[in-house]
Amino acid sequence: MKITILGCYAATPRTLTNPTSQILEIKNRMFLIDCGEGTQVQLRKNKLRFSKINHIFISHLHGDHFYGLVGLISTFMLLNRKNDLHIYGPNGIKEIILLQLKYSNSYTGYQLYFHELTSKESEVIFEDNKVIVKTIPLKHRIYTNGFLFEEKISDRKLNIDSVKKYNIETCYYQKIKNGTNFTLNNGVEIKNEELTFDPIPPKKYAYCSDTQYEENILPIISNVDILYHESTFLEMDAKKAKDTMHSTAIEAASIAKKANVKKLILGHYSTRYDSIELFRKEAETILSEVYLADDGKVFEF
Ligand SMILES: [Zn+2]
Repeated sequence: MKITILGCYAATPRTLTNPTSQILEIKNRMFLIDCGEGTQVQLRKNKLRFSKINHIFISHLHGDHFYGLVGLISTFMLLNRKNDLHIYGPNGIKEIILLQLKYSNSYTGYQLYFHELTSKESEVIFEDNKVIVKTIPLKHRIYTNGFLFEEKISDRKLNIDSVKKYNIETCYYQKIKNGTNFTLNNGVEIKNEELTFDPIPPKKYAYCSDTQYEENILPIISNVDILYHESTFLEMDAKKAKDTMHSTAIEAASIAKKANVKKLILGHYSTRYDSIELFRKEAETILSEVYLADDGKVFEF
């Protein structure tokens, strides 16, 4: 699982910082999460292939999370994209994008599918044979969802030495990987545990931006491997966090701790502070494994 931070600062694009966007690579799939201004440039800087993006998840319709979207859609068009593009985001996103395309007399040579979200309960919004994506209903000034990305349990791993020892033909391998026992010609049954190893445990990544401190999300994010949680403010500005429905670093760490999450990535920093290290310092008073997102930073777990 690889997360590339394209942007992780609140509000406006600046000389050295970008608004929110990140790429999650999981089981050979590449998902774009939020798409603030500058996302295209950041994709290029980080040498990420535009054509691999087929699913875009937008948390909410504040500009710093999606003002890069119509530009990216337009670039896909100029790059002669043919693959379908799926966009998951709050109700209204379809109208916004189509209106911009209409009045710029633009069209896409590929199919655009909008999956508009309205539910206040967590729901499955994407699923294939390897990955499942659910919403995490957040509490912010407008309708907002985080996203939970879960790997599906993979097949058991074949113990090659063992299957060779019993001269098992390759055509039975998939059944064995699915967990079945194997019966030899002499009628002796070989237990699956002797022929396979446990699969790699599936990983989970939860993305939560923007939100105020919200304990209702705990059942959805509990025990995830990595939590990205916004921390717009430091404790000295806790009142501002409350007023604007954002979180402090300590609140982000408290949510992680209560959800039994070991690894926390902080982001969505207000640019009013001298150093983002201050966010880590505060969060580390609650949780030991705190990482700081920063533009261009890559996390591999
Ligand atoms: Zn927001």
